[in-house]
Amino acid sequence: MRLFLKLLARNRLAVFGAAVLGVIVIVVLLVPLLPLADPDVTSTGDRFQRPFSAGHPLGTDHLGRDLLSRLLWGTRLSLAVGFAAAVIAGTIGAGIGVIAGYFGGRVDNVIMRGVDMLMAFPYILLALAIVAALGPGLMNALIAVAAVNVPFFARNIRGITVGIAHREFVDAARLSGMGHGRILLSEIVPNVLPVVVIAMSTTIGWMILETAGLSFLGLGSQPPHTSVVPGVMILLIVMSINLLGDGVRDALDPRLRSGALSRPMAATLVDRDTVPDAQGPGLLAIDGLRTEFRVGPRLYKAVGGVSLSLAPGECVGLIGESGSGKSVTALSVMGLVASPPGVITGGAVRLEGEDLIGAPYARLRSLRGDRVAYIFQDPLATLHPLYRVGDQLAEAIRVHHAVSREAAAARAVKLLADVRIPNPEARARAFPHELSGGMRQRVGIAMALANEPEIIIADEPTTALDVTVQAQILSLLDDLRRERGLAILFITHDFGVVGQLCDRVAVMYAGRIVEEGRTEEVLASPAHPYTKRLIACVPELGGGRRWLEAIPGLPPAVDSLPEGCAFAPRCAKADDACRTGEIALAGDGRKVRCLKPEVVA
Ligand code: ADP
Ligand code: MG
Repeated sequence: MRLFLKLLARNRLAVFGAAVLGVIVIVVLLVPLLPLADPDVTSTGDRFQRPFSAGHPLGTDHLGRDLLSRLLWGTRLSLAVGFAAAVIAGTIGAGIGVIAGYFGGRVDNVIMRGVDMLMAFPYILLALAIVAALGPGLMNALIAVAAVNVPFFARNIRGITVGIAHREFVDAARLSGMGHGRILLSEIVPNVLPVVVIAMSTTIGWMILETAGLSFLGLGSQPPHTSVVPGVMILLIVMSINLLGDGVRDALDPRLRSGALSRPMAATLVDRDTVPDAQGPGLLAIDGLRTEFRVGPRLYKAVGGVSLSLAPGECVGLIGESGSGKSVTALSVMGLVASPPGVITGGAVRLEGEDLIGAPYARLRSLRGDRVAYIFQDPLATLHPLYRVGDQLAEAIRVHHAVSREAAAARAVKLLADVRIPNPEARARAFPHELSGGMRQRVGIAMALANEPEIIIADEPTTALDVTVQAQILSLLDDLRRERGLAILFITHDFGVVGQLCDRVAVMYAGRIVEEGRTEEVLASPAHPYTKRLIACVPELGGGRRWLEAIPGLPPAVDSLPEGCAFAPRCAKADDACRTGEIALAGDGRKVRCLKPEVVA
């Protein structure tokens, strides 16, 4: 609740709306206590007095009634009516929607056709018809306005309920023996309630407008001041309620809080003071890369100065626990970290000497997929569900190369054959959901190969696959690397995989590389205590009986990294020296960031 208020307070327009509405509500509540003329006392001698006349600050109407008094009493009524109408329409409409959406089938059909019939009438006409049938009067206007808004709520909430009614947690509740009533109350309603509240808050203003509209329709011709002043009041009320309602909606949605729903920029934001000098050669040289997430007052240092190089045809493994910053490192290379909240704050990434950090978007775009391609963990999430895989591959080719449709399609089939997909002509016409996980990942690899890149960055490409398929994909990547001289940056959390594929390996912990070296050497004699513990976690086939030891404790949160070595709190050897100052990544070729490395054989 406090977070909600804080978020709401950040939205200046919502605060403005709340303030205006607050003033109006307070004034309106105090109306009975104010020294106002009776709004209903007529005095024909005083009719149509101009504003600022004696005793009538806003003038009088055609019956000589005091306009100020009528305005305030009227506002009181309008607010009450609008609020009541929204609550009534919201409750009835949401109830109908939840029942229709939850039970589905015939219940849904009957209810929704009824709602459709109501919706088929023009809005205001229906309200007028109801008022005409019930007779004039505020109460009847309220009923009319509430009634015409019921379908709006019913339709909205039904749609949301349908989406929820078949989710696993509802099935689980049903399996556990809960009745419909309890499921509706404890599983469905809490999930649709925020939507109902938000819809209500944004429609109250609208309802006041409608009620006012219905009352205004009885007016004849009058001097301007008798309708302008109430009109301004209605404008103020509706505007302030809508501003506040929008603010409430934004503050309630957890996705809006982190900026996840705002559209990310085309390339990661760069905010660095100095550019490190170019190092030696190398196809891809990551040099002192720092990437942070700025979420409100928090600062997550996801990547804290990573240096890594990749030679042509080389495969380098980047290994570390989940959350150690591997993906953010990989995405930073091509400026793919979402901004906001991501910012690259230091370092350089050079592709054959050209710095990619802060390169113009057009340049990055021409390189993405063409010279540096990515393979991600979940191919189902990266493939478009509604296009055939062959067409998606052809599209990837045509983005970078001006080739005919036929040539691109033929090349797509060839690519599918290259990644050892049997019967590629037929498979090219398949949709992603018709393929198995392993096949989809092969399509993902084919997509990465489409423009013959020099570098492939594979971010846990086999983590979602079972072990046999994983082995096939690894050997496929290995073959492709040898056939085409591809350089691969292979990200994983599995030392077994690194051992099969990688020439060199870098071990990452809390956003930094803690050890780097040739794979055989690191595997045979790990120097950093963390690497040693990680390797001890890998079971070995035929390795005999031994304890598989988990590492005690958890990796540190990257918004509050300890001083010194980030692993010290979990390390058995750590002493005071480990907990102060900066510990360098020492060594040449074989590097380790540790004051007390294990003895290297
Ligand atoms: P992994 O090594 O598992 O690939 P990531 O690189 O995805 O880890 O994440 C590294 C760190 O960055 C994590 O600790 C995570 O908390 C943080 N992080 C990633 N994305 C965001 C984000 N959008 N907002 C805030 N923090 C993030
Ligand atoms: Mg990751």
